[in-house]
Amino acid sequence: MERRQFLKIVSLASVSMLGNVPLIAAEKRPNILFIMSDDHSSEAIGAYGGRLAKLNPTPTIDKLAAEGIICRNTFCTNSICSPSRASILTGQYSHTNGVTSLGGRVAEKDQTLPLNLRQAGYQTAVVGKWHLNTQPLSFDFYKVLKGQGNYDNPTFFERESPRAKEVKSQETGYCSDLIYENSVKWLEQRDKRKPFALFYHFKAPHGPWKYHDRYASLYRDLDMPEPESLWDNKEHGSLATRGHNDELITQIGSSVGRRHRSRTQIRYLKKELARQGKKSLVDNLDNLSDDEIKGMSYQAYVKGYLRCVRGVDDNIRKMLEFLKAEGQLDNTIIVYTSDQGMFLGEHDFIDKRWMYEESLRMPFIVRYPRAIKAGTATDALINNTDFAPMLLDYAGVKTPGSMQGTSFRPILETRKEPDDWRTATYYRYWLHMAHHYNPAHFGIRTKEWKLIFFYGQPEKVPKEGKKKSPKSIFTPPGWELYNMQDDFQEMNNLYGKPGYAKITKQLKRELKELREELGDSDDDFPHIKVVVERHWDDDLKESLKISNHLSENADELNSFEKPEKLKKSKKSKK
Ligand code: CA
Repeated sequence: MERRQFLKIVSLASVSMLGNVPLIAAEKRPNILFIMSDDHSSEAIGAYGGRLAKLNPTPTIDKLAAEGIICRNTFCTNSICSPSRASILTGQYSHTNGVTSLGGRVAEKDQTLPLNLRQAGYQTAVVGKWHLNTQPLSFDFYKVLKGQGNYDNPTFFERESPRAKEVKSQETGYCSDLIYENSVKWLEQRDKRKPFALFYHFKAPHGPWKYHDRYASLYRDLDMPEPESLWDNKEHGSLATRGHNDELITQIGSSVGRRHRSRTQIRYLKKELARQGKKSLVDNLDNLSDDEIKGMSYQAYVKGYLRCVRGVDDNIRKMLEFLKAEGQLDNTIIVYTSDQGMFLGEHDFIDKRWMYEESLRMPFIVRYPRAIKAGTATDALINNTDFAPMLLDYAGVKTPGSMQGTSFRPILETRKEPDDWRTATYYRYWLHMAHHYNPAHFGIRTKEWKLIFFYGQPEKVPKEGKKKSPKSIFTPPGWELYNMQDDFQEMNNLYGKPGYAKITKQLKRELKELREELGDSDDDFPHIKVVVERHWDDDLKESLKISNHLSENADELNSFEKPEKLKKSKKSKK
């Protein structure tokens, strides 16, 4: 008997002995479909039961949750696109992998997750949004958007195989649809003897929220439910974000309505009204009151956002149908997540970046019926450095020593947290006062509490004589403490209020230990270290004292041009 024929018989025999699972190691492992959208708030996912759930925004994602597990306490470690993506790829925090802000690089050798999957015999591909300054060279196949990518007729960079040359091309169509079509094209020609790992990455629902025409009538005649904090922020925030007498609220955090001096969502409202042919309304906007504008802007924003979300949901449905037809649906670990959350008007914020709940929280749903029970949930504290260890665990790969995260596979399968599982997750936002005017900060989140310290300093000290921008203005240091069980909307900053000294002390100790354990020492940033040390023990009275320099800074911030003009002057320098 020829060797090839012999092997075929052995292989068929093992198939019949074990049902559909052949005895070849690689084939025993599940495929991986890692679906990641961009800026998808869990408020806008039905299964999370938030304020927008009643609008049924995500029927397919909800079905995934019903057939799998929903992780209710999954958090990013730095709420912005490139850093979150870098943490997922490397299993490391931003201060370790060096991608602290936009435009970061992860060298091919450091793209640890896909490299390890490939080494373990997986065929790997990434299609859609990538948003790092180094291409996904560690994948067998990639077809990724250029930078942020356009909603209409986007440009892709494609490399067919590790030895092929990268090709750039513009395609006709809607971004989310094209990401689906290109993913399926790759899946159809894959080597079916190997398991696949497809990173299916949507650009939507990231700004500028350009939805496909087929969604134009969706929600048209409905009133989107508003968050209470859009109108009344109560005791939210601190000296760091509001100033002493609210003098900073026109400076900090881009807004839905006119609150922020320059970065608001009103531009989107104008575009939407123009798209609907309501030109006279656009012309009349200046005559409307602040409240009227805010209400209209909110409605336009949330409707546009949810229409983009529906484009993601529909293309996930199509992908699941494809996998079902291929007979691969139940043999695939399907993850749904987003690179971080998003503000949809809560506290009158848009965008992300803050350690506040709406942007800190990542949706995370896993469907894998062979090992994960349908309709289950966990509130274990998981963060985005854990994703790679978990996926590699399913691929039969031990967590590489370079990774700081931990596999939560046992939690997904048993809903029990190992004894040594983390009791707090660390967060740090570095990109001080850039783009959406968020002061730099760090903090920890436990199941019950959140403690944030705004140190208000840029990563690099502005050079002497260099033209200043809001990014180089130090904002006042300040602490915030929220009880996440009683005050999930974070409407009451408890820091310095009577009765919270003990818990504050305990959380500070935990925060300090966590920073030491993770190696976020600020040794390379002495100007930040000084502020952290000087203000570590500030109580509210101390903070009030140091707020004296606030009005000075507020005036300086006020003196800057609008961001559009800043951008122009930057370009003209180059
Ligand atoms: Ca994002």
